Amino acid sequence: MANIQKTQTREITAAVIRKKGGPFRIETLGLEEPRSDEVLVRVVATGMCHTDMVARDQLYTVPLPIVLGHEGAGVVEQVGGNVKKIAPGDHVVLTYMWCGHCKPCLNGHLTYCKNFYPLNFGGAREDGSTATHDGGGSVHDHFFGQSSFGTYALVHERNVVKVPKTAPLELLGPLGCGIQTGAGAVMNALKVRPGSSFATFGGGAVGLSAVMAARVAGATTIIAADVVPSRLALANELGATHTVNSRETDPIEAVRAITDGGADFTLESSGRPEVLRQAIDGLAIRGVCGIVGAPALGTEAGFDVNGVMTTGKRIIGIIEGDSVPDLFIPSLVELHAQGRFPFHKLVKFYSLDQINQAAEDSEKGITIKPVVRIGS
Ligand SMILES: [Zn+2]
Ligand SMILES: [Zn+2]
Repeated sequence: MANIQKTQTREITAAVIRKKGGPFRIETLGLEEPRSDEVLVRVVATGMCHTDMVARDQLYTVPLPIVLGHEGAGVVEQVGGNVKKIAPGDHVVLTYMWCGHCKPCLNGHLTYCKNFYPLNFGGAREDGSTATHDGGGSVHDHFFGQSSFGTYALVHERNVVKVPKTAPLELLGPLGCGIQTGAGAVMNALKVRPGSSFATFGGGAVGLSAVMAARVAGATTIIAADVVPSRLALANELGATHTVNSRETDPIEAVRAITDGGADFTLESSGRPEVLRQAIDGLAIRGVCGIVGAPALGTEAGFDVNGVMTTGKRIIGIIEGDSVPDLFIPSLVELHAQGRFPFHKLVKFYSLDQINQAAEDSEKGITIKPVVRIGS
């Protein structure tokens, strides 16, 4: 720790991944003060998302060592001189990073930012610099622009979303990724209609968020397919009208039987090519299948070309629910306050020193959405 200059860096405690597969190691690090366009956030709690494990295991390559964490919520501690959007003391949710100057960003589809991969998985700022150090050298950060598995996160003004102080801050971090992915897929990308049928293939945090959103959107048939009975029970509680245990029943046949031929909308959130096939085959004529599950880079999947062509089916990839976080996240906070989007039912809290347990429980399906409490 001798090399950390106290005048320019602040001491933080963070979970560091030093080798492929982990574990998360709790360490003391140094973090730089904010630049003119940056915001220092005191992290209250951070959700754990499947993508943290994907990065830990290097299915998506990230440079090591790195501080992960991309569902942070906290309180603004300090802002750079050019920051206009927020002020110290504001409560914020941290979300993904986008560049703001490419064509998809200019078209309002920030989740398809041309620079999404380097900005969110590059382990550094847009200019390639890092802000985090251990005694010996740099530690990669800015994972999803935030690296929030630590007591403080240094983020850009763009990936901070102000939320009301009346909302339960320690619960809100997952709105920045997993929850907005499922809810936004239904509301922004698939545009599920009142009276329509919707089926999620995969009942994790994303799939169950989609179930809640489908109910808000007015779907009258909402099917959840998964292999874990406890997830299916929760899906029922959250608004699913039917559940299918894919281990016991052929989910394609089940969805076709329930919907008289196929669902208007399906969502694949498991990241498995064979489940994607089910989600396509379970569609109605002119139905739309959204892909949100992330397999390893380079994974390919198959489908019956004529089966898709002659029925006018559409298959679309969806990142982060195609959401504009400054607009979408506050709307989810309000839906939660009104009791119409009870995502707290997915959450179980862990302390920072239990972070490896949180990851294990998530991977085993014991916990749908772990949230790691970090500060207050
Ligand atoms: Zn962009
Ligand atoms: Zn995520």
